[in-house]
Amino acid sequence: MIELTIFIIGVCIGSFVNVLGMRLAKGKNIFNDRSVCDHCHKKLLAIDLIPVLSYFMLGGKCRFCHRKISIQYPIVELTTAFAFLGIYTAGFPHTVFLMVVFSLFLAIVIADWKYLIIPNSLVFALISISLLFNIVYSPQLLMNRLLTSIGAFAFLWIIYTLTRGKGMGFGDVKFSLVMGLLLGYPQIIIAFYIAFLTGAGVGIILLLLHKAKFGQHIPFGPFLVLATIVTFIWEKQLLIIFLKILGLH
Ligand SMILES: [Zn+2]
Repeated sequence: MIELTIFIIGVCIGSFVNVLGMRLAKGKNIFNDRSVCDHCHKKLLAIDLIPVLSYFMLGGKCRFCHRKISIQYPIVELTTAFAFLGIYTAGFPHTVFLMVVFSLFLAIVIADWKYLIIPNSLVFALISISLLFNIVYSPQLLMNRLLTSIGAFAFLWIIYTLTRGKGMGFGDVKFSLVMGLLLGYPQIIIAFYIAFLTGAGVGIILLLLHKAKFGQHIPFGPFLVLATIVTFIWEKQLLIIFLKILGLH
């Protein structure tokens, strides 16, 4: 029963995550007015705002203009719901904190994926809650994580400067502050390794499939987010693997 409740809350938060990612990227007010159709810009009916269900009830089409509603909406809603359920059932401590972090991460992925922007407000929100979390729950790690955060920022800033912003945007550089605060050292090294490896891998695949042109911007934010989540969940296992590779274990 509690699982179902968490799932439904997740679906609703996911609906808000969609709004958050898209409106912040376009510099719009997030609470201002009701959502509109992406095509005909008519205001959606209250009944069409029910997450996931309304998408399928409408057959994936707008009630007014009958053009396609982006599959992004139900995907994000369901992803949030399953992530919340996963966080709860995996028995992580600080469940609510992790759910909030995940929601903000997903909003960043949407904004970066669709508009190549990582909204400052999302990064600042994440920095604030991560800092607060460290101060309250793990003050013994605070110094490590603060220094990691600064180091990560410096590292990406150097790459950003050397590549003149071609490999990543300044939003990615700012996001590394969050990574440092959540992961600390040496975990941050693993996270960067995963992010650069997957980012480059996907970039090459897209080039080969002719889905992307050489020199075209591929958002790096989603890879940083993914790497942070993977490293956070499997930090112990990944550390062992890395030490083995380096021959230190
Ligand atoms: Zn429409």
